[in-house]
Amino acid sequence: MNVEGRVFDALIIGGGPAGVSCAVWLARLGFSAMLLEARGQVGGLCLDHPFLDEWNASLPGMTGPQVAENLAVSLHQAVVPVRLSCPVYRLELAEYGFDVAASGLDGPLRTRHIVLATGVRARSLPDAQANADANQQLDASAATLPPGILVGPGAHIVAQEFHGKRVAVLGGGDNAFENAIYALEHGAKSVRIFARSIKAQQQFVRKVPPDSVVTGSYEVIAAQRNINGEPYDLILVFYGWEPCVGFADGLGLHRSTRGFIATDMQTAQTSCPGVYAIGEVAQRQHPCVVTALADGVTAAKAIQARIEAGY
Ligand SMILES: Cc1cc2nc3c(=O)[nH]c(=O)nc-3n(C[C@H](O)[C@H](O)[C@H](O)COP(=O)(O)OP(=O)(O)OC[C@H]3O[C@@H](n4cnc5c(N)ncnc54)[C@H](O)[C@@H]3O)c2cc1C
Repeated sequence: MNVEGRVFDALIIGGGPAGVSCAVWLARLGFSAMLLEARGQVGGLCLDHPFLDEWNASLPGMTGPQVAENLAVSLHQAVVPVRLSCPVYRLELAEYGFDVAASGLDGPLRTRHIVLATGVRARSLPDAQANADANQQLDASAATLPPGILVGPGAHIVAQEFHGKRVAVLGGGDNAFENAIYALEHGAKSVRIFARSIKAQQQFVRKVPPDSVVTGSYEVIAAQRNINGEPYDLILVFYGWEPCVGFADGLGLHRSTRGFIATDMQTAQTSCPGVYAIGEVAQRQHPCVVTALADGVTAAKAIQARIEAGY
């Protein structure tokens, strides 16, 4: 299909639950929509958690990757054109709407509306984070890190052997405490949590021996896997999440105080008319698959209303 010359009603950037839901709804509402995904598969963060998703009342008994497979089936059944391994790197205003430049395309794609559904990436140690930002990498953990340092939760933690290891966990949120418990339950010799402050739910905090938690500032020498002068076999980093939006900087979109894209709650429209942001990149609701799917519907219906109003 030659897509470079035509003007789409909407281009959806990001193939997690939010982007897929939006693309499916737009296609079923009769609009020309196309989805661009940086990775080789759709599914977003669902691809990265091998556990059962017990929070989606409409899909009981599915693992994250199975949810991702269902998203791919839905796109196929709605006949949505999808470009995989196609990271978007620039957005520009044009007379018909926007030009969208992505790797792997012969030229920019043209569209009347853009939907940003690019999700979040786990924050890394400061040096690796700066490196990832400079290279617009989706996953800061992919930036050069010494071996034995794991960033964020997910499949790579499950694949890690903890038996007999001295483990340091950095961060004070739910992910830090849940994964510290996981390491202890999977044979770690010792686990120590370093947190500037503790924000995790009490149900997790109670399960960790109090003398394993160090609060206040601490010094990390990543190359030696050393914290406050003590060596560790593994360092797990849980510094929260940040939105994947560097490629959209040219549009000057308003952000929240924490850097997420600011949107109108009713429509998911950003500060730039015709550009919508949904799911975790906009942090509009509690982050999960169901709210991401719902956000996709909100943007699709808002785009329908805008097109039918003559924009
Ligand atoms: C370990 C773990 C366990 C979880 N467990 C659950 C659970 O049990 N139940 C639940 O409901 N939720 C769970 N979640 C949360 C859930 O996966 C997310 O809330 C949801 O996937 C967010 O959807 P999203 O579409 O907003 O973003 P994402 O899923 O992050 O998708 C964003 C997509 O955009 C793509 N992208 C980014 N930048 C670009 C670009 N420049 N160009 C093109 N594409 C780009 C990414 O590759 C990605 O595919 C879990 C998350 C993790 C990490």
